[in-house]
Amino acid sequence: MPASDCLFCKIIAGEIPSTKVLETDTTYAFRDINPQAAVHVLVVPRTHHEDAEALAKEPQQLADVIATGVQVARQEGIDQSGFRLVLNTGDDAGRTVFHAHVHVLGGEQLGLFGR
Ligand code: 5GP
Ligand code: ZN
Repeated sequence: MPASDCLFCKIIAGEIPSTKVLETDTTYAFRDINPQAAVHVLVVPRTHHEDAEALAKEPQQLADVIATGVQVARQEGIDQSGFRLVLNTGDDAGRTVFHAHVHVLGGEQLGLFGR
């Protein structure tokens, strides 16, 4: 069920515009509005899961989101050069949207993890 106040549920429903990269039966991938790399795409499960913990309880959904992330990398032509899949959880990670999403980052040499 979509969460009525969830930004990404509204994007999936088409109520808020987004730049689609690809979609599957269970996932939707679109460009991040504030890209942090040459390629920065968000992959979301179509069903509302608040965070990684909730998504981990649905292994098939989790696998679908990862598989779509890999498919995005291939479609964007960064699968050979390398890319990063990121799932931010909680305040210290700077998570801001409460609908689980995987960031696909690449298209350039990425900085190291951490601060
Ligand atoms: P988080 O920090 O929660 O892991 O990532 C949320 C991401 O969503 C951020 O990278 C942010 O730029 C992106 N974002 C926030 N609002 C919108 C929006 O309305 N449209 C799109 N395409 N991305 C958004
Ligand atoms: Zn949602």
